[in-house]
Amino acid sequence: QAAEARFTANNPLSQQQHTVALGSLPGGNTRSILHTSPFPLTMKKGIDSYVWDVDGHRYLDLVGEFSAGLLGHSHPTIRRTIQNTLSPEQGEGPGISLGATTPHEQTYAATLCTRFHLDRVRLTNSGTEANLHALAGARHYMNTRHGSSGAGGPRWRKVVVFSGGYHGAVLAFGNGEPAANTVDRKDFVVVPRYNDLALAREVIERTAGVAAVLVEAVQGAGGGIPGTREFLMGVREAAREKGAVFILDEVMTSRLAPGGLGTELGLDPDMVTLGKYLGGGLAIGAFGGKEEIMRVFDPRVEGGLAHSGTFNNNTLVVTVGRVVLEEVYTPEVCREFNERAERFRERLVAVAKGSRLSFTGRGSLIGLHFTEGGLEEVRCGEDVRAQERGDLKDLFWFEFIEAGFWTTRRGFLCLILGTPEEELDRFVEAVRGILEKH
Ligand code: PLP
Repeated sequence: QAAEARFTANNPLSQQQHTVALGSLPGGNTRSILHTSPFPLTMKKGIDSYVWDVDGHRYLDLVGEFSAGLLGHSHPTIRRTIQNTLSPEQGEGPGISLGATTPHEQTYAATLCTRFHLDRVRLTNSGTEANLHALAGARHYMNTRHGSSGAGGPRWRKVVVFSGGYHGAVLAFGNGEPAANTVDRKDFVVVPRYNDLALAREVIERTAGVAAVLVEAVQGAGGGIPGTREFLMGVREAAREKGAVFILDEVMTSRLAPGGLGTELGLDPDMVTLGKYLGGGLAIGAFGGKEEIMRVFDPRVEGGLAHSGTFNNNTLVVTVGRVVLEEVYTPEVCREFNERAERFRERLVAVAKGSRLSFTGRGSLIGLHFTEGGLEEVRCGEDVRAQERGDLKDLFWFEFIEAGFWTTRRGFLCLILGTPEEELDRFVEAVRGILEKH
């Protein structure tokens, strides 16, 4: 309570701004995840790996725009590319969307295919859309291939997902069931624990009409919990045995290894969904995979599936996107960055050992968990929820804010390229200090 009172006293302009926002947005907010009580901080600008709020405080950005902000706020190559793209008079840039197919989209698609080992890819505006279209594609493929039984709609409709899984705004399975706004709720079968292979196998085997199994290789929104290789391989095998499409959601995890985490782990998914940082901070999503499946989106194929979207090939994003992978987040940069992040997490784990705070994650994605006792191992969200301490989570957030660290309220860090090492040291020391205090 004292920490919350200090927060309110320190942020009068954010509070005012929130009151004004309530007049036009439900809850003053257009992204539910960003709501925090008693009111959210309103940020006014970002430079490099820092953000500033309207009250003038500077924070080290550890939110990293939930992974989309990987390149930081002012990467010179990204800035230059955006400027060039918007100025066709001065060079090669195409200008803003052309209402036509462009070479920029084709080159970007080829870049994505090569980098992430996809036969074919299609672009969207968000990770949510990428997953929705991938699921539609998988269902269509299954029904075309195996035949749909007329009565009662398509035969291959079910999708097996995992508790704690988050695949987008209308595809969320946080607490073992589809969130209220999940599309086609009844078609999702949720495996009640992530990382439990026996359970996953059983659910996949006993469910009739499974079109797809959709899984993250590290649960992001679910707490930064990595899937073990054994679990992920086993899920893939179970999907294969069932004849269902195995879709790996790499919207968060493609940043963890040069070809995505699926490639690193040798998962060979049938389909992959992508997004976040791939647009260099601009809105993007993509889904792709095996030619045989992606063929359903080929407009020359009779009985195929339409996939449209005005902004799917918008010139700004596809141009920046190519530069992100080819010039900025190269395989070498990706490897080095995640190794460095891994060392950072190891230091955090050491500082928190035996306390009520635990760190999980992989590479540059880090989960924080606040519990009654220390957690030895976190294999799924349920392990945490059994003894979670929401009050501690809030307390740490207020402390982080006061110490100049912008972190998510729910306890998740996405590191930004180029964050100074001294700043990461400062965070480790801050965690130590807060643990000593509480
Ligand atoms: N899939 C995963 C694993 C995600 O973490 C997210 C976003 O956090 C999405 C899908 C949805 O992406 P978007 O927010 O771009 O719709």
